[in-house]
Amino acid sequence: MNTKVTDMETTKYIWLNGQFVLWEDAKTHIISHSLHYGSGVFEGIRAYKAEKGVAVFRLKEHIDRLFFSADVMEMAIPYSKEEIMEAIKELLRKNEIESCYIRPLANFGYGVMSVSSDNAPVDVSLSCWPWGAYLPHAMVDVKIVKTRRLSPNGFEPKAKISGHYVNSMMAGKELKGTKYQEAILLDEKGFLAEGPGENVFLVKDGKLFTPKLGSILAGITRDSVIHFAHDLGIEISECELTPDDAYAAEEAFYSGTAAEITPIHSIDDHVLGSGDIGPVTKKIKEVFLQTTSGKNELHQDWLAYI
Ligand code: PMP
Repeated sequence: MNTKVTDMETTKYIWLNGQFVLWEDAKTHIISHSLHYGSGVFEGIRAYKAEKGVAVFRLKEHIDRLFFSADVMEMAIPYSKEEIMEAIKELLRKNEIESCYIRPLANFGYGVMSVSSDNAPVDVSLSCWPWGAYLPHAMVDVKIVKTRRLSPNGFEPKAKISGHYVNSMMAGKELKGTKYQEAILLDEKGFLAEGPGENVFLVKDGKLFTPKLGSILAGITRDSVIHFAHDLGIEISECELTPDDAYAAEEAFYSGTAAEITPIHSIDDHVLGSGDIGPVTKKIKEVFLQTTSGKNELHQDWLAYI
């Protein structure tokens, strides 16, 4: 076994199949189904140090999506949504952690070895660790890559299934050795889809535009941005967008749990607007930060205090 100690920041405990175990003891068998076939479903959630304590952002929506993804896989998670949500809160308390990233994973485990997952046991784990900014710069230079988002005829884009992420990884590999920090993938028809791990928004004439659902993950941050736009009276359209729309945008940004709201500086070398964070992006980012820190009167119910 490769025993290299991880460079990532770790925490003390991981919740594994109903028990808290030490981080270094949370192991799986090499013959686990999901290692071979990508047959896991997962979530990425963040907790923030908010006004009234540590709060998990949109916990219910993330756990709903985890169970939706499991349904798509015909995977029966052997815990209720309430049990998982309570275990996440307890994990954060036990790890004495404030701001962090939370990774629930349900995967077909050890017991059978064939493409069919019939009779494979389901393992469930909950991990968390400190994770700062996901993208390396305050504003990012972006490339529309050749790798296309998988066709919705061949997968369910609304499900967060481990195996789907090879598509995202391949998109990211195209940026190796270039000056670009993040990718945008087109869908099979050539319309903008999303980033490898983020949704994407454009601003034109003060209005917001984002790719409609169909080939993309229904991001929970994307949904938050749509709510913020309504709250702020900013018009928003979910539609088909072309690379030319992206080049002509005055502003653009990524949304995602890991990336939060990250402004885009340029797309395929087209610098957007003044090259600085634009007014609409700035406002959305501000409201996002206010909301996650519990300072927005609206959407208090999005915070699950631990
Ligand atoms: N698209 C993809 C492919 C993702 O992996 C993510 C991250 N979960 C997102 C969009 C953003 O989704 P969310 O806002 O729910 O994190």
